[in-house]
Amino acid sequence: MTRPATNAILQPNFKFEDMGIGGLDSEFSTIFRRAFASRLFPPGLIQRMGLTHVRGMLLFGPPGTGKTLIARQIGKMLNAREPKVINGPEILNKYVGASEENVRKMFADAEKEYKEKGDESGLHIIIFDELDAVCKQRGSGAGGGTGVGDSVVNQLLSKLDGVDQLNNILLIGMTNRKDMIDDALLRPGRLEVHVEISLPDEAGRAQILGIHTNNLRNNKLLDGSVDINELAHVTKNYSGAEISGLVRAACSFAFTRHSEVGAMAKIKDPNSIIINRTDFESALGE
Ligand code: ATP
Repeated sequence: MTRPATNAILQPNFKFEDMGIGGLDSEFSTIFRRAFASRLFPPGLIQRMGLTHVRGMLLFGPPGTGKTLIARQIGKMLNAREPKVINGPEILNKYVGASEENVRKMFADAEKEYKEKGDESGLHIIIFDELDAVCKQRGSGAGGGTGVGDSVVNQLLSKLDGVDQLNNILLIGMTNRKDMIDDALLRPGRLEVHVEISLPDEAGRAQILGIHTNNLRNNKLLDGSVDINELAHVTKNYSGAEISGLVRAACSFAFTRHSEVGAMAKIKDPNSIIINRTDFESALGE
């Protein structure tokens, strides 16, 4: 089964915010319950129950909402190796068979370790980003009408359904278009847990702003005039990625205020840089 997990999530004072993920508490709780709580229990329990661990899940929703962040965090919580990331468009290959070979390679290390150690094997997380690019409904011509998409779906199905069911794999598919994914992949036993990761609401945006300004605040680089709740209010429809971009843009306005741009760019007084409300207003106005 898995190596001992850090079990941070089981600590009484645990907060998702502390992992750098804001506004996704309920989604993360669902993922925990459905996709990986079973892996924190002592080895053998799940077999005694006559069950298997969930081997696959699908995170879907708009770009930049934290899907990759969550997938990586799951790996850390389960003390898994660094996840392998495979990108849909990147694995499409014009050479016949090369795309399936790419998929096969992704699973090879996990298979090898499972053969050697069985349920004592460590957990291997495979993140399949932009799954919709190759795993569209079969026969739809995904992969440029070459049938490559179809064979990648078949390859994934055979890995997930394999005769030797690999208890040491968690495949996390990610997409902005769940409706495009081949239904066969989304059935129980395959990518069976589906969780929507939506744009954050106002409270979520405040949490995300708090996370991305945390270093500024701790290092006394954030002026008291910056009101996180007010910023959360005016950033409706911003994704987490856009919020982190907003903080970066505000910092860039502060840098400009502190430099004399010319033939010889000069920093006035690096120790006096403070990011203030006007910097955020300028960033919002861009
Ligand atoms: P895509 O669908 O485009 O692949 P994604 O949903 O996987 O996007 P991420 O790559 O996880 O999005 O997010 C990009 C960056 O945006 C993160 O590294 C992080 O800095 C910031 N971010 C996004 N969502 C959140 C969030 N909920 N909390 C904190 N930061 C976030």
